[in-house]
Amino acid sequence: MAALVLLPIEVSDAGWLQDILKSSSKQGKSSKHATSPKPASSAKRASSAKPAASSTPHTVRVAALGPAALNAALKPAAPTCDPSKFRIVLDVGHTAKSEGALSARNVAEFDFNRRLAERIEEKLKGEGFAETRLLVTEGKARPSLVRRVAAANDLHANLFLSIHHDSVPDKFLENWEFEGKKSHFSDRFSGYSVFVSRGNPDFKTSLQFAELVAKEMKAEGLQYAQQYAQPIMGRDQHPLLNKETGVYSYDQLIVLKTTRMPAVLLEAGSIINRDEELKMDSPERRDIISSGVTAAVKEFCDPRWAILGAL
Ligand SMILES: [Zn+2]
Repeated sequence: MAALVLLPIEVSDAGWLQDILKSSSKQGKSSKHATSPKPASSAKRASSAKPAASSTPHTVRVAALGPAALNAALKPAAPTCDPSKFRIVLDVGHTAKSEGALSARNVAEFDFNRRLAERIEEKLKGEGFAETRLLVTEGKARPSLVRRVAAANDLHANLFLSIHHDSVPDKFLENWEFEGKKSHFSDRFSGYSVFVSRGNPDFKTSLQFAELVAKEMKAEGLQYAQQYAQPIMGRDQHPLLNKETGVYSYDQLIVLKTTRMPAVLLEAGSIINRDEELKMDSPERRDIISSGVTAAVKEFCDPRWAILGAL
């Protein structure tokens, strides 16, 4: 794998979240993600990106257009790209040292993230996106965030996609025993979710890609995690930008806000939910999600693919 291994830097891991969060409340789900301290602005409904195309009606409509109108209709919101030159950075969330959430069966989120990101990388490269870069960062949590953003910026990536798996705030955790070990789970929530930051310098394009990813997840038959729109989540509540597909804003996430290219974070599914953990652990689910992400990248790179790709 073309993993970009980054040097660890020694900064105390303890309390890293408190360092960067305004709130100093007990460690919860959001400890998985580092945020910068500026409070989120109020929810603002974002307009939907270009809708998905089922091939038939769009094909008919395209065929009825003259050359000028056709060009306009097919004009991508983002520049049409050459897949062989288009560089997407697949950021493996967390590090071997700071592994993120722990699954119901005590497997580190980092392992799930790495396996899924590697599968996405394979699929993208198989589709001609030869410049796809898997970003595996070493070291402790907080410095790793700065390093992964710097790496993506230095790579002059066209797109940044951070891969994560979801858990719940501590207050929802229940006890069970797995393989003789006291363990924690919550079967209350499940599903994927897609996050963007309105602080990203190219929020509009970030949202456009997020919409494509979420649309493809939904098209794969997956359901999004609805709890982030609910007050019960407390400070983990986030504005829902698209209630059909599950795109949320998470404005202060460092990897989404400080990257100099459009950036999206995918929570692929819950690993604290006992049933969903088993699914997320399967090659079949990794294939489904990888296919969805790959379709989203192809569509982002060339919106004509959405219309003509099925032909
Ligand atoms: Zn995570």
